[in-house]
Amino acid sequence: MTDSSRKAALVTGGSRGIGRSICAELAQAGYYVVVNYLQRADAAESTLAQVRAAGSDGELLQLDVREREACKRAVSELASRKDEIGPLEVLVNNAGLAADGLFPMMSGQKWDSVIDTSLDGFFNVTRPALKAMIRNRAGCIVNLSSVSGLVGNRGQVNYSAAKAGLIGATRSLAAEVARLGIRVNAVAPGLIETDMTREMPREMLKQLVPMNRIGRPEEVAKVVRFLCSEDASYITGQVIGVNGGMI
Ligand code: NDP
Repeated sequence: MTDSSRKAALVTGGSRGIGRSICAELAQAGYYVVVNYLQRADAAESTLAQVRAAGSDGELLQLDVREREACKRAVSELASRKDEIGPLEVLVNNAGLAADGLFPMMSGQKWDSVIDTSLDGFFNVTRPALKAMIRNRAGCIVNLSSVSGLVGNRGQVNYSAAKAGLIGATRSLAAEVARLGIRVNAVAPGLIETDMTREMPREMLKQLVPMNRIGRPEEVAKVVRFLCSEDASYITGQVIGVNGGMI
């Protein structure tokens, strides 16, 4: 891709797990990749090295997606560097965390941390990015939901609420901006091998999956890459499951 045709992609939570694989896939597709992270600068540096190894370029962006004003400032600043890094054409809202617990015992802190990161994070980052996409009449947004957002899961009332909320937001925003050349979709992974699932007993997890294995981050990332590509030009407002047949 020449510099004049370069396009930028912002991946929230790009330092580890699924987000890291998404950064690598988008780099292979030629995007200038902005790797957002919260605190693991070392891990984010490794992701950036993978982006460069894929033949593209990018940069790190330390930013807490829960911080509305900071997101507005940082994302608007990225979008204003269109001549340098290309128009901000892809946003992947991937940052997320789980804080499980049975609902009667769930603290307000656990509720807030999950909702604030997934749902407020979506709002905080997407609004400033969308403004740039509307100006450019081009854009693609992918939100990381979860199988827990499609079906209930014991101990995950907060996480399910956040991920189901993202599905509603995806469908409504897709309807709002389709005429402006902007597509919005969600990916709903099942059980994927990352830090988020590291503590969970493998044998027990595998029994929940008809394919009898945990998914790999790149199996989610390739779907995100597809959704951001021209091959998906007529797909918007959809939720794509990547779950080994769980639902
Ligand atoms: P990981 O726990 O491996 O990584 C989480 C990422 O999010 C890290 O990059 C972390 O940054 C970043 N992050 C967390 N909080 C914030 C914040 N406030 N601001 C900015 N970045 C933040 O997660 P996964 O890769 O497993 O999950 C990625 C997404 O996929 C999540 O939305 C998750 O809910 C969803 N998902 C995951 C599944 C799984 O089985 N793993 C299944 C279904 C959905 P840092 O490194 O700096 O801490």
